[in-house]
Amino acid sequence: MNRKFKNLTLINKDKLYKLAYIDPITNLGNYNAYLERVKEKLEINSKKTMIILDIDKFKSFNKEYGHTKGNELLKRVGEEIKHLIRKTDIVCRLANDVFGIFLVGEVDVNNITERLNKNISRIYIGDRWYNIRISIGIYICSKEEKNIQSMIDKAIMAHDSIKGKYNVTYGVFTEEFEQKMVKENEIESMMIEGIENQEFEIYYQPQISTKTEQIKGAEALVRWNKDGKIISPGEFIPVFEKNHFIIKLDQYIYEKVCIDIQEMKEIFKEIPKISINISKESLFEKDFLEKYIKITNKYNVKPNDIELEITERTTVNDDKYMKGILEQVKEKGFGIAIDDFGTGYSSLIMLEVMPIDTLKIDKSFIDRIGINNKEVNLIEIIMLITKKLKLKTVAEGVEKSKQVEYLKKINCDLIQGYFYSKPLDFEAFKNYIKENKNKI
Ligand code: C2E
Ligand code: CA
Ligand code: CA
Repeated sequence: MNRKFKNLTLINKDKLYKLAYIDPITNLGNYNAYLERVKEKLEINSKKTMIILDIDKFKSFNKEYGHTKGNELLKRVGEEIKHLIRKTDIVCRLANDVFGIFLVGEVDVNNITERLNKNISRIYIGDRWYNIRISIGIYICSKEEKNIQSMIDKAIMAHDSIKGKYNVTYGVFTEEFEQKMVKENEIESMMIEGIENQEFEIYYQPQISTKTEQIKGAEALVRWNKDGKIISPGEFIPVFEKNHFIIKLDQYIYEKVCIDIQEMKEIFKEIPKISINISKESLFEKDFLEKYIKITNKYNVKPNDIELEITERTTVNDDKYMKGILEQVKEKGFGIAIDDFGTGYSSLIMLEVMPIDTLKIDKSFIDRIGINNKEVNLIEIIMLITKKLKLKTVAEGVEKSKQVEYLKKINCDLIQGYFYSKPLDFEAFKNYIKENKNKI
């Protein structure tokens, strides 16, 4: 080949390689490069560790300081990681603010995470220091393992396991995760059939007035009846929230509850307000309210018969978008309850800003009544605030008479818990209402 052309093809090859494998921001390898390089290392007969690392709140950093600073931060983080690992180890930027690290040989997990945290927690860019937090997921690979994607998935799972945990910066994949993954896959494979076969059933848990002992409300709680075996929502709701199937399930439950309300209205002169759990994913659906109003009308149910429960985590402080949705919901006549109050990180301002009617005090507070005075003081403070804001209060998970007495004393409005009744299937719930007819 003519020398001139030979050079040209060399340059092009080099350029092409760069395009395909090098991340221009950090000059590290990209996702493709990571897969290739890890593959080469798999042949080595020694211990290997896969690490997924990302920067907490990187989006906010970009917003606050601009993309140029954001890119600079990625570059600096890449450099710091490179300094900390051996020449024979690998670091690549896999996507956005996600780095993949692959270590060959013995690794002291505590030591490496400590060093990563220490070196990356303060980064100097251009003119000043920035405080950064990172999250790390670790998977220690077995010697025979060859499936790189599954290794990455496991490190990501370990990473996700620390989400929302205060002051925990790394998670290590364990056998439990493996079992959880198998279970999740099993749940996912059964869910569509579950709806088609009407396997999801609704149980109702009464809410009793502290003043009059009347049944003033009930919460609809889903159960999955799989061939006679009951699967509790704690097992499948988190999976459905992840894969967004919850949107379908919430709507299905909502419709079933409306059917039950219609029936109860035909039997009883008055019925308790029914609370229905709605996930964030459902609320954020574009035509959420239209769809739900349509179902409500179909069964001659009034929004006023229903209270929608959303968890505290769904309402992030004064999130304008959320507030807009809730205002529309409220305008239609639905009640709005904040669920699990006290377990999230929302500020008290949220209570004033969001158009809510009811606050559900989480069981963790109730459990401490009579045990921890500080927590009891907290419930009293919550009560003062809710009275001032004219919110109704529901205590959740009340099991003991001592708790009931105390809640009566501090004027909590409603009590929900095993003390009065476990969640009941529809037939049992109707009987419960019949037996306590004078109490509605
Ligand atoms: P949650 O909304 O906080 O519901 C209260 C949970 O506490 C229910 O668990 C209820 O059975 C349980 N509970 C009530 N009283 C007591 C008590 O005295 N002691 C104890 N130990 N537990 C009590 P469940 O039914 O297992 O539901 C778990 C979670 O699953 C619910 O927590 C809710 O977040 C979610 N969930 C349930 N049904 C639905 C649904 O239809 N849609 C959605 N999106 N989520 C649901
Ligand atoms: Ca609830
Ligand atoms: Ca709750």
